[in-house]
Amino acid sequence: MARFRVFIVAFACVCFLAVGAAGQSTSIDWSKLKPEILDHYRALVQVDSTSGHETRAVDYLRKVLEEEGIATKSFALNPNRANLVARLKGNGSRRPLLILAHTDVVGVQRDKWPVDPFGAVMKDGYIWGRGSKDDKPVLTANLITLLMLKRRGVQLDRDVIFLAESGEEADTEGVGINYMVGQHFDEIDAEFAMTEGGGAITDGERVTIVNIGTAEKLPARVRLVAKGTAGHGSVPRLDNSLIHLSAAVEKVGRWETPMRFNDTTRAYFEKIATISAPEEAAHYKELFNPETVQAAQRYLREKDPSRYSMLRTSVVPTMLKAGVGPNVIPSEAEATLDIRALPGEDIDRFYADMEKVIDDPAVKVVPIPPTRPPSPASRLDTEMYHVMERVAKAVYPGAAVLPSMSTGASDQAQLRAKGIQSYGIGPASTEEDTLNYPAHGDVERLAESSLYPFVQYVWDVVVEAAGHK
Ligand SMILES: [Zn+2]
Repeated sequence: MARFRVFIVAFACVCFLAVGAAGQSTSIDWSKLKPEILDHYRALVQVDSTSGHETRAVDYLRKVLEEEGIATKSFALNPNRANLVARLKGNGSRRPLLILAHTDVVGVQRDKWPVDPFGAVMKDGYIWGRGSKDDKPVLTANLITLLMLKRRGVQLDRDVIFLAESGEEADTEGVGINYMVGQHFDEIDAEFAMTEGGGAITDGERVTIVNIGTAEKLPARVRLVAKGTAGHGSVPRLDNSLIHLSAAVEKVGRWETPMRFNDTTRAYFEKIATISAPEEAAHYKELFNPETVQAAQRYLREKDPSRYSMLRTSVVPTMLKAGVGPNVIPSEAEATLDIRALPGEDIDRFYADMEKVIDDPAVKVVPIPPTRPPSPASRLDTEMYHVMERVAKAVYPGAAVLPSMSTGASDQAQLRAKGIQSYGIGPASTEEDTLNYPAHGDVERLAESSLYPFVQYVWDVVVEAAGHK
């Protein structure tokens, strides 16, 4: 099948800062390092660190780092869900760089897997396993970067802080980023952070697009609660709560919420218009023209819902709850709306606007307490962003490099809310592989050929952003 075609990602040898002040070399013979990268990556995928068991991954990482002479500290609110921190000191002339990855993975349904989900089986050019995309490539790249900085004795202007955090996928107890930010922020405070939340697209031959994640939407969910008079199913009532709720869900589900660009999405759509096929490019360009913007939005809504969502605070009905029996009119019915707010959205005003759209006093909008703080977008004019852009172009020659806003949520929200400029990265996948073997999907896998350039990308960024100038 086409999905199994083997592809090769362009793997250029680019060496930044070839020799530092103390004569230490930061250029790496990547072909020699491949076996070590693969060993650590596979070992980490083989650790079943399903949410609740993150300490298993921490034990592995601690051993590897300490054998190399890198001191570690672990911070655990729950002993099974520890976080691990290691810091390589810089000369203090610039503020630290935090490289982080989560150790936890989502659960598996074993019967859906053609191979052992924790086997890191190598087949057809891929490494298969839970966490093979999310988030063990970033964890591996950060680990290798720390090991190589230490081995090479690279002189640093910035401290490089390594954080392996628990509870990114599921954290009802607040064991992961909330614990680190809330109780141990001095251990991870940094000017810049780099972690999951970006990515790259390959056409199978070469990487065409590298996304640097600079912003994300904020979950701002609500319950819609409709109230009416309870009664017998044989007697129709106009104040039936189900009728009111259904009408409200229909209205908000079809509501075209206002479109708004921010710096990230404006740059994203402007750039993607320059590299897309003519038909798509025309639609992206239409977004910037008041006369055609409506048509462009209609197109995106129908054909490209992810990009449609990038342009607005989105409202998606996801759950309905009502009724106790076929012959009983319930006095209350409720729906859950998964609302994802753009950075900077005035959410109370948004809820008020939504009430106007619903236009029914029988239906109330009840906000669900948020699990993440609102976070501003990270800036596009920082040294870190420029370094990432430059390195991406060098490691993936010919690729377009775009800032991107995730429609999902990540632990970058907590970091950005604390004033850290945080940027998202990820290894390359084909569009097809992203669709068929996504993060959190029934089956997850990563092309081996995507792993090595990704590690090189992380290394080059860290060396250029934190190394002694
Ligand atoms: Zn993740």
